[in-house]
Amino acid sequence: MNFKGMTTSALALAFIGLGAGAQAASCVEVTLTGTQGGPPVFGGLAGSGTLVSYGTEENNCRDVLLQFDTGRGTNQQLSKIGLSSAALDAVFFTHIHSDHSEGLADLMQVRWHFNSDGPKVDLVCHEDATSDDGHTMSCDKFAAHIGDALIESGEMAQRLAENPSRLAGGPSDLLDVTTFGASTEPQTVWQKGDVTVSAISSRHIAGHASFRVDTPAGSVVIGGDAGNDSPAPPRDSSTSAQVELLSKDADVLVHSVIHPVMGPDGDTGFPPPIYYRQSTATDLGALAVRAGVDNLMYTHMIPPLGAPRQGPYPLPAPLTEADYETAARDGGFEGNVVVGTDLATLRLVAE
Ligand SMILES: [Zn+2]
Ligand SMILES: [Zn+2]
Repeated sequence: MNFKGMTTSALALAFIGLGAGAQAASCVEVTLTGTQGGPPVFGGLAGSGTLVSYGTEENNCRDVLLQFDTGRGTNQQLSKIGLSSAALDAVFFTHIHSDHSEGLADLMQVRWHFNSDGPKVDLVCHEDATSDDGHTMSCDKFAAHIGDALIESGEMAQRLAENPSRLAGGPSDLLDVTTFGASTEPQTVWQKGDVTVSAISSRHIAGHASFRVDTPAGSVVIGGDAGNDSPAPPRDSSTSAQVELLSKDADVLVHSVIHPVMGPDGDTGFPPPIYYRQSTATDLGALAVRAGVDNLMYTHMIPPLGAPRQGPYPLPAPLTEADYETAARDGGFEGNVVVGTDLATLRLVAE
């Protein structure tokens, strides 16, 4: 199911009756490549990921293609909208939980197989970060080892024997990794032409970051799995102050969501610490109001629409689109709500 929407205020449907020779309007499009919340598998949903593309209406907003997180099945999802892994300019990780990162090996393996002589892909992520209990989350190491099983098993040697023009080091050799340090202020982490990506550190696990894409056609924030800096109540909100800062006057906020039904007041048995480290649908609605965001896109659905359970935790009843929208309205949000389904899209067109 696809959803198309437009923002209302600063941007508008433009260039109706575009004359010959006139410049095509620039546009930015958000596509939810995967909306599964967390590691469970349900109904064929792909793992977490968001494609933000920028261009002109003539080329379907496809001059610059940025993939934020690459959950399970990202490659197949891109193929459904006519894109190959070779088309991506850059990949950004909000964090390296498996449900956000496990699709990168597949994307890069195919790119290595068929496009070893093509350009490298920028991988932009947080520098190594060590948690309070001493484990280190390392995007650098993740990137360096994505081909290891195939290298160790001899698969890659066999492929190289068939075609020695492929890169000898495997798919990692096609990644150009850029890491950024922790910051509670937005910092520019990637730029190409009219497109600028900034990042801010946010809380969920060590090394978590949220991103903002600014283009002449509009701005998009990808919150990831961010939650409040206080890991449990009492606190003002389950949402992140850093995401709120990053979202100021943004056109679109794409954010992982957890429905209040999963909370300790309900009877799903869902672990409270995991509930508390996500942002609730209601609190995200309130954040969108405070930040002046027009479009709120829920993704990484906990639970997904229609699911009888979230992993091992049974629900009293499967949730509907209306359950999520009602939660956003309960937070006071009156703008456009997109309740995440795979390949839902939202396009903004510059005036
Ligand atoms: Zn997640
Ligand atoms: Zn996570």
